[in-house]
Amino acid sequence: MVTVTQQKCACADCVCIVNVKDAVTKSGRNYCSDACAEGHPKGAGCDHSGCACHG
Ligand SMILES: [Zn+2]
Ligand SMILES: [Zn+2]
Ligand SMILES: [Zn+2]
Repeated sequence: MVTVTQQKCACADCVCIVNVKDAVTKSGRNYCSDACAEGHPKGAGCDHSGCACHG
């Protein structure tokens, strides 16, 4: 049985959908990238195409 559990990145501005299994987890939330998980401290985006998030 294959379980696919996907969730939108917890970053509010982010449009990425992440596999919970592969996500960067921080404070119980799932993010698509370290940048999102850290709240974009350097203003860098997550580098995924189509996403313009950067805090
Ligand atoms: Zn993003
Ligand atoms: Zn983000
Ligand atoms: Zn992303």
